[in-house]
Amino acid sequence: MKYRVAFLSLHGCPVARLGEKDTGGMNVYLKETAKHLGKLGIKTDVYTRVHDLNDEEIISLGINARVIHIKAGELSHTKEDLYHTGPEFVGNILRFQKRENIEYDLVHAHYWLSGYPGIELSKLWASPLVSTFHTLAKLKLKAKVGEKESEHRISSESETILKSHGIVVSTESEVSDIKELYFKVNENSTNFKIRVISPGVDLDVFKPGDRSAARNKLGLTKAKMVLYAGRLEPLKGIDIAIEAVSKLDTQEIVNLTVVGGDSTSEDIVLELKSLAGSLGISERVKFIGSISQSELADYYRAADVLIFPSYYESFGLVALEAMASGIPVVASRVGGLMDLIKNGEAGYLVPFRCAESFAEKLEVILANPSLQEAMGESANAIAMKCGWEDVAKNLAKFYMSLSSEFSLKLKKSSK
Ligand code: UDP
Repeated sequence: MKYRVAFLSLHGCPVARLGEKDTGGMNVYLKETAKHLGKLGIKTDVYTRVHDLNDEEIISLGINARVIHIKAGELSHTKEDLYHTGPEFVGNILRFQKRENIEYDLVHAHYWLSGYPGIELSKLWASPLVSTFHTLAKLKLKAKVGEKESEHRISSESETILKSHGIVVSTESEVSDIKELYFKVNENSTNFKIRVISPGVDLDVFKPGDRSAARNKLGLTKAKMVLYAGRLEPLKGIDIAIEAVSKLDTQEIVNLTVVGGDSTSEDIVLELKSLAGSLGISERVKFIGSISQSELADYYRAADVLIFPSYYESFGLVALEAMASGIPVVASRVGGLMDLIKNGEAGYLVPFRCAESFAEKLEVILANPSLQEAMGESANAIAMKCGWEDVAKNLAKFYMSLSSEFSLKLKKSSK
């Protein structure tokens, strides 16, 4: 019988359209890890809530991997309402599992909203629980003044940390963050392990290419181009990107292209457009909206440099994708970006969230084509070691070690 894993992702569907208000890195992570675990022979079911009436109940992600849409709450529910739908999610997963007559060897819960379902199903199925938070409330609160997170998110994260048999994080810095911010809450807990397994990048999609060919394909001008890609939210610091571009002191015109956002981002786009207007660079800032990853790959190839001025990033897949595409990255020195970008090699890490510092580093790259090329090559060399195949292999090893420890403990306790 094959090893079988249940991914729980109450909020965050692997096949949802990316770059919108609530869809980004976690959705990509779920899809790619499930797909590659499946290729390794581990049957992986990703349970997520029905979020669109057109969604089929079961969608295949390839061999041994599928998405299962489970009813939890109403379609109109926003992310903030979903916490209370946990019991319904669990009940409907159990019904599906019984109907299909399947058993799971391990539960992997993603994001804090899947914490409660993870704890419940791990108990009911007597299988180990692995948790990945993708972002943590206390880190977001620490990163930017004005961020708001609910009390039940914080207590749910603490409880899930306590009750998980394993925790997968993206970077070493997240290990220290969890220990510093959450471990004290659970000082007596000795029964969980944290494992660093960094996310990957699809190296078939994100690869270097001819810049002017990509610009022609996208109908862009020959002007230099700084790119931002990702969800449009204040934590991403897009205002800093606009200000930085307005401060550039370069010989040539430099445009900023902003990829991401949907109809719910209209307000933030209006604010950003008005900022660009007040800085006198309206015609140099273009908002593209959200696009598919294959189209985004063309934007990376067309760009001179990626700007990533986030206040906080637990990992920052966009930076890795740009690196795989052979362009340098100028990013904030925060979270996962500190581990990913070697300062001065694949781009620059900027310690302060201030536009001048970003502009200075962008200028250095834009004014030195040979440096830009060398950094792009280094970036690509780093990214080439980060395929999803290896991520899945590392996850599989972690699952197996937890499963054998768990069954040993079960045997001991039944004696
Ligand atoms: N993305 C996309 N289309 C867009 C904007 C973003 O496909 O219009 C994808 C991008 O390729 C990346 C993900 O969304 O894989 C964003 O992940 P990241 O970790 O950078 O940010 P998060 O959403 O996790 O904050």
